[in-house]
Amino acid sequence: AKHSGRSTFSWYTPELDADAQKRKEIELGLEKALKYDQLKLLYQPQYSLKDGVLKGYEALIRWEHPTRGIIRPDVFIPIAEDTGMIQEIGTWVLNHACREAAMWSDTARRVAVNMSPAQFVAGETQNRVAQALHASGLHPSRLEIEITESLLISNTDAVIETLQQIRSMGVSIAMDDFGTGYSSLSYLSLFPFDKIKIDKAFIHNLGKDPSTDAIVTSIIGLGRSLDVTITAEGVETENQVVLLRAAGCDLVQGYLYGKPDSVDVHETAEPEMAAR
Ligand code: C2E
Ligand code: CA
Ligand code: CA
Ligand code: CA
Repeated sequence: AKHSGRSTFSWYTPELDADAQKRKEIELGLEKALKYDQLKLLYQPQYSLKDGVLKGYEALIRWEHPTRGIIRPDVFIPIAEDTGMIQEIGTWVLNHACREAAMWSDTARRVAVNMSPAQFVAGETQNRVAQALHASGLHPSRLEIEITESLLISNTDAVIETLQQIRSMGVSIAMDDFGTGYSSLSYLSLFPFDKIKIDKAFIHNLGKDPSTDAIVTSIIGLGRSLDVTITAEGVETENQVVLLRAAGCDLVQGYLYGKPDSVDVHETAEPEMAAR
């Protein structure tokens, strides 16, 4: 709240009005996006660092807006979380990713799907996962769910039970953005994650800052002793690859290897990309 020059009292600054208006527009637009098929998934490849094998893809959502062009998830996912529309969008993502992955020519490749904490509904999330697998015919071992530690902050017991049920179907669970939260480490003892994704902020500073190098090396060592697969995300330079390889990182994902795109585009990409 602030006083304007003419001593009338106003609650909102013009910027807030513009923000609120934009939010409203996105909110209404999202309903149409679902209805008129404007959402799509792009896939970013993940390679094994040891042998260059393409192991799978992370599904990343995009909104193809009819007039505003392609809208990134950071713009609309938080709003979908606030309005509850994340339920419908999340279910669409899960079904769509499983259906597309089931059609890939290489049946060993996995698909990783992001799920936001707001999507988790006790007793329902595991059914949605089971239904998506059943409807697509995708083998559960090919599906991976990426969650962030913020999911585990509240309602721990119910969430852990849900994760355990999903895992018992044969689906793997990855902790995304590892190291960015307050207590990433403590959550590792609460749930047996299959994979840890080192946040791209750490990878960005790799080779530039000795303490970052030490942290990344420690996370990779931790992964080895816990028998958890470690993925580095946001890999952009050859120098980062050299350091990650020396530290024994398992998987790499980033612009150096491929931007999020259709799987068709990745399949026809230059073969030397895989052997990097
Ligand atoms: P995230 O899960 O941490 O995904 C990684 C983000 O880093 C993606 O942004 C990806 O395009 C970007 N990225 C990949 N490689 C590089 C690189 O080498 N350098 C840099 N600077 N960035 C790279 P994107 O696609 O815009 O997604 C942003 C976030 O939106 C995701 O972060 C995830 O939290 C969320 N998101 C995306 N798709 C979904 C979805 O289907 N459902 C939910 N709930 N959230 C999603
Ligand atoms: Ca992710
Ligand atoms: Ca991430
Ligand atoms: Ca993130």
